[in-house]
Amino acid sequence: MQVDDQVPTSNVIRSEEFWYPDGSVVLVAGNTTFRVYQGLLSQHSVVFRDMFTIPQPEIAEKMDGCPIVRLSESPQELVHVLRVLHGGNLNLLRPDVEGIPFAILAALVRFGHKYEMLMLRDQALKLLDQVFYDTPSKFTEFTFLSEHLDYAPVEIHLREAITVVNLARLTNTLSMLPLALYMCSQLDEELILGFEQDGRREQLDPADAVLCVSAKQRLSHDITHLLFRMFEYDDSMSKHCADRDFCVPLLHDAMERVGLENYGTVLHFGPLDGWDHFMEEAFEPVAPCSSCQSRTCKKKKLGRMQIWRNLFVYFKLDNQT
Ligand SMILES: [Zn+2]
Repeated sequence: MQVDDQVPTSNVIRSEEFWYPDGSVVLVAGNTTFRVYQGLLSQHSVVFRDMFTIPQPEIAEKMDGCPIVRLSESPQELVHVLRVLHGGNLNLLRPDVEGIPFAILAALVRFGHKYEMLMLRDQALKLLDQVFYDTPSKFTEFTFLSEHLDYAPVEIHLREAITVVNLARLTNTLSMLPLALYMCSQLDEELILGFEQDGRREQLDPADAVLCVSAKQRLSHDITHLLFRMFEYDDSMSKHCADRDFCVPLLHDAMERVGLENYGTVLHFGPLDGWDHFMEEAFEPVAPCSSCQSRTCKKKKLGRMQIWRNLFVYFKLDNQT
């Protein structure tokens, strides 16, 4: 086991939550010690099982008669994991449980990957897959990014997509990348600066940050292009239109209302957002003929799906689809 943080055991504090008097191992994370059970750790982790069964020179230190294992994780991260393992919170990972904080899942994925607690890691990844999917059929239910996050089974903030990208890279779970990178591309300064969580600085790898900056620009172009294309009175519309002279000015007005009078409104929302309510407003109080209306909506639907497909190209994921 790598010893990353040589905190002298005289300067550490005991975890109030995880100090079992009959515990059989002392874990040291940062400046905090945790007295827990070897058996439980071994049951879930190949790495801990090997560590406890094969004599390890680095765990020769002892505290209260227990071997000491120093970990590089922060105390907060370790608490998340121990609450699931030792606190009997395995139910937290049931697929029907809603509102689990993202930080817990992130700690489980990272810890589970490093210490080969594969069952825990994969259950946590499965929950994240409900938010970060790459299937087009699910995307049809995607309305607004803000709603997508608000109603997710995981309690997650936009900036935490940075962590999701890093976890996806770590575990080679590439299916999470299109939406996670897309969400990162919608960040402002945090895209570059990252943020602090549980004693860890979460930041994108420079290569991923570059992808996001480039994608942000290309997606803005896409959404602007779609706005003009969908209200354009093209051949597909003129073919079935009931009255060209009636519809053309109305379509032009609708485009102005959605894109020009409220300039910035469409761009204010994300390129993947549905903005259906803009469409309703755009055709009020007088709407073009039903054929032009439905054709406009169809162009919008097809355009959104194209933007979704573009994510795979912009983020260089097209080989994985
Ligand atoms: Zn028409």
